[in-house]
Amino acid sequence: MTPRIPITRPYFDRSEEEAIARVIRSGWVTQGEMVEAFERRVADYVGAPYGVATSSCTTALHLALRLSGVGEGDEVIVPSLSYIATANPILYQKATPVFADVDLETYNLDPLKAEERITKRTKAIVVVHQLGLSADLDAFLDLARRYGLLLIQDAACALGAEYKGRKIGGIGDLACVSFHPRKIITTGEGGMLLTCDKATSDKARMLRSHGASVSDLVRHRAQRVLFEKYEEVGYNYRMTDIQAAMGLAQMQKLQEILDKRRMLAGRYNELLKALPWIVPPREPVYATHTYQSYCIRVADNCPVARDEIMARMLEFGIATRAGCMAIHREASYRALAEGSKLPVTEKVADTTLLIPLFPSMSTGMQDEVVGRLGEILGTC
Ligand SMILES: *Cc1c(COP(=O)(O)O)cnc(C)c1O
Repeated sequence: MTPRIPITRPYFDRSEEEAIARVIRSGWVTQGEMVEAFERRVADYVGAPYGVATSSCTTALHLALRLSGVGEGDEVIVPSLSYIATANPILYQKATPVFADVDLETYNLDPLKAEERITKRTKAIVVVHQLGLSADLDAFLDLARRYGLLLIQDAACALGAEYKGRKIGGIGDLACVSFHPRKIITTGEGGMLLTCDKATSDKARMLRSHGASVSDLVRHRAQRVLFEKYEEVGYNYRMTDIQAAMGLAQMQKLQEILDKRRMLAGRYNELLKALPWIVPPREPVYATHTYQSYCIRVADNCPVARDEIMARMLEFGIATRAGCMAIHREASYRALAEGSKLPVTEKVADTTLLIPLFPSMSTGMQDEVVGRLGEILGTC
């Protein structure tokens, strides 16, 4: 039986269906007219000059690394406390992920820990805006400048997040967002590379479509016959017009989605004050959180273990998820990460959980989540 209260639910109305139907009826499915409009819309929203839509955030991150010239023999500093897709593209490029520890308050990469791991082989830092909470970007931009490193932002969960009043995606050179159904807005699957550099965006557009020098959209609009060249080996990392049409419909609701998420998170913050042992998420003054997930930590002295809480919540019909994973403990990374000392990452991975939060969640559902949590902790 699926849980009565799911961990998340996309926020749709009829507009997504109608937008998709219009694309299908028009005969435009892959040429890229909708993709171009969606790129413009998202880039304008975050204040980035260019957006390149992709098949996922993972493929956008791969393009970002390749365009940064990251390759064999290079080291890339990255948090282990993230979804595994943050690190995989580093291996696609045959470079070496070097894991640095996070801050216990924000769960974001700690700039001092990142600095300690810089060597002569370090080429880039991939910083994650954890669950939609922006990392302390100025510290990382400064680090990148001082050591001559590239800074790539995994902003998968951070569409609409702000750092010192500016939107994530519009700060720095390269940021990647996700449109997976678990993220702020969705296109089913999808992602976007945001950049301030025209040459980077041109090359990303070429590489996402097999390395072709002429895109389908340019050819479609041309008054004369155009022949393309393939000078580099590219990929099929394209987004379809169907997805982009859905994304445009979702963009109409983005502010509403963010407002609802923040309202519900604020309510959780208040309700959870009554429960011992539960550490709510923090929001430093420089950040505006998207609350892509609402992540709570079970304090060290709690008599009920995190896994036990999750199992009992599910018995009540309430879905939860383990908070953030520790990539270095997965079999596919274990050998690579041998000897890494990441005590905060391991502690957070073992003691955090996500509780349901989605824009259509009712306050009644929220009361039930907190009530059940209280029952399990034995305080109600
Ligand atoms: C979801 C997520 C990704 C992967 O996004 P996809 O669009 O599914 O490829 C990468 N990094 C982080 C931090 C994520 O949360």
